Amino acid sequence: MLKITDSIIKVKGIGPKKASLLNKLAIYTLEDALNYFPRDYAIQRAVIPIDKVRPGQDASIAASFNGKAGTRYIKGLSITSISAVDDTGSIDCVWFNQPYRAFNYKADTLYFISGKVNKKNGSMQLQNPLVEDYCKDKHTKDALLPVYRLTKGLRQGDLKNLIDKALECLKLQAPSNFDSYIDGASNLMGKCKAYEAMHYPESEKLLESARQRIAFEEFFHLQLRALYTKHFLSSSTNSLIIKVDSAKLGLFFASLDFQLTASQHRAIKDILTDFAGGRPMNRLLQGDVGSGKTLVAATALYAAKLAGLQGAMMAPTELLARQHLGALAKLFNRFQLRIELLVGNMPSSERDKVVQGLAEGKIDILVATHAILQEDIVFKKLGLVISDEQHRFGVRERAVLRSKGKLPHFLAMSATPIPRTLAQIIYGDLDISIMNDMPKGRIAVKTYCVRSSLRERVYRFVRNRVKEGEQAYIVCQLIEESDKIEAISAEELYIELKENYLRDIDLALLHGKLEAKEKELIMDKFIRGQIKVLVATSIVEVGIDAKDATVIVIENAERFGLAQLHQLRGRVGRGHKQSYCILISDTDQELALERLSTIVSTTNGFEIAERDLELRGPGDLYGIKQHGILDLKIADPIKDSKLFALASEHAQLVVSNISKEEYKKVLEESLAKNMTKDIVTS
Ligand code: ADP
Ligand code: MG
Repeated sequence: MLKITDSIIKVKGIGPKKASLLNKLAIYTLEDALNYFPRDYAIQRAVIPIDKVRPGQDASIAASFNGKAGTRYIKGLSITSISAVDDTGSIDCVWFNQPYRAFNYKADTLYFISGKVNKKNGSMQLQNPLVEDYCKDKHTKDALLPVYRLTKGLRQGDLKNLIDKALECLKLQAPSNFDSYIDGASNLMGKCKAYEAMHYPESEKLLESARQRIAFEEFFHLQLRALYTKHFLSSSTNSLIIKVDSAKLGLFFASLDFQLTASQHRAIKDILTDFAGGRPMNRLLQGDVGSGKTLVAATALYAAKLAGLQGAMMAPTELLARQHLGALAKLFNRFQLRIELLVGNMPSSERDKVVQGLAEGKIDILVATHAILQEDIVFKKLGLVISDEQHRFGVRERAVLRSKGKLPHFLAMSATPIPRTLAQIIYGDLDISIMNDMPKGRIAVKTYCVRSSLRERVYRFVRNRVKEGEQAYIVCQLIEESDKIEAISAEELYIELKENYLRDIDLALLHGKLEAKEKELIMDKFIRGQIKVLVATSIVEVGIDAKDATVIVIENAERFGLAQLHQLRGRVGRGHKQSYCILISDTDQELALERLSTIVSTTNGFEIAERDLELRGPGDLYGIKQHGILDLKIADPIKDSKLFALASEHAQLVVSNISKEEYKKVLEESLAKNMTKDIVTS
């Protein structure tokens, strides 16, 4: 008998070829197949009498093929048609290139026939209809048919067959402790039924119940793992204690030409408390763009160094890594620290030096991109890992990073404010420090929304600012022209501006398709003021810090999500001059207008995030799902927040009501559920 965990290759009818196609969809086991949910459902209509069928409809009838079948050939194409009849009339059924249809059906037999209705030469036809034996129970109501995402060479039928096998298998299998627990403890649909209904829903209502059960389970496992990580970290006794040398840290603070903000004070205190506590820190630092997270990170790195440990700081792009390197070098310029950079494509001689320096413990701080994950990067004594823009790193990366040290302290930094309720779901295993104030003297960015008829005036404004020695970003959604999307592209606009409004101004084009070297060069020139105006895509969204940039113009602003607009605006207002954000949009769409007016009316990232929760524009809340932080297929952390609360309660209950031994068993089951294993494996 097949087990649900068996490889699909064991299933009859699946050979190496089909298996490799299925692997492309990340289906390796029967369980994967079970969890390969339809991307959509097509509605199959309940049968109606033929005289009620109308052109343009998707219609189903119960009829018999009593007429004569005929096949014509036109230019190698075959057209087979048979007339279908019921008590109310008749209709032609037509198939292209399926001549066997002419001999497929018995006379005087009732069939279920379903397809698109077309009018041809004054009479109606069903084109390429689906035909099956008529079954009164099944066909007299609307049905939802699963539609799966495919890959070339694979058909819907292949997936359906496999999923049917997996469903059978699930039914025969004894339920796990978990499943019995959830089945018994909640009012949710049973597990087998839920899987069946996900793939073959009998109604929208049942589909929703099934979705809830699966979502609940996803949340439950997520929470259980979070609780486990917390539990594991808080009970690990062999962690690195970082004793803080407050006198030396004081010297560092004294070297700054500004006072710490209250939030910075609080965040640093949180971190130092974790350091001293004897358990590995696992903390998220959330603060708006410009709130001064780098200084907090630097302080943590310095504290680690003073305790004789190495630190690593990861950034999602090379550009950002270089900026961090620059910022840290500046902050530490009066202190004896060796800071090095590690990026993907660096000369091997340079790389070798870094690798050696890390292994020998001579490098105090490493600033790096994903390149840090490579196997040969080994630290002598890694005490602290910081990842910037945490939402771009998955759980897996975090685990690899952790594995490079003996349970190093971990700090994630995110500039995308997320409401606390949501943060608890997404970062369930992390403690959270929030930075909700800004360094003194910062002048709030003025934001305006204008129609495109005013574009000329906007560019004249940009021009005037540049003449005053300031700089500007002009952001487009597209790199190049697209037939599908009506929005001005960066390339088009760059040419237009260069030939016209900004003719005599140093202008550059920046987008993701440029070579990394070239991007860097352009950014570098911009930061040094050699380029005055950057026409760019949202690539400038993360972290770029140019003090003289005072204007950001966002073209087709309706096409950006709230979080993205907020992040983009954060590119300006970083110096001491008044800055401006100008949104250009002609939209009349209500939700888009709501988003734009939100951005115009507030600069507080947490407020904007709350509003985003309510509106949910493009970009689906910071692209949390896309970035793969969460292994959620079905559950929606926003829509299903009540379900999350319930799942969370149950997870707590499970954890507090069972013995350590049982807990371990339950957890192992949970972890075996082909989910990413977090710290447990590291
Ligand atoms: P982010 O939180 O976006 O990473 P940064 O750390 O880059 O913000 O800080 C933004 C700017 O504010 C930097 O130029 C930094 O030097 C400056 N800054 C940081 N903290 C303070 C402070 N307490 N007072 C004044 N300026 C500060
Ligand atoms: Mg930053």
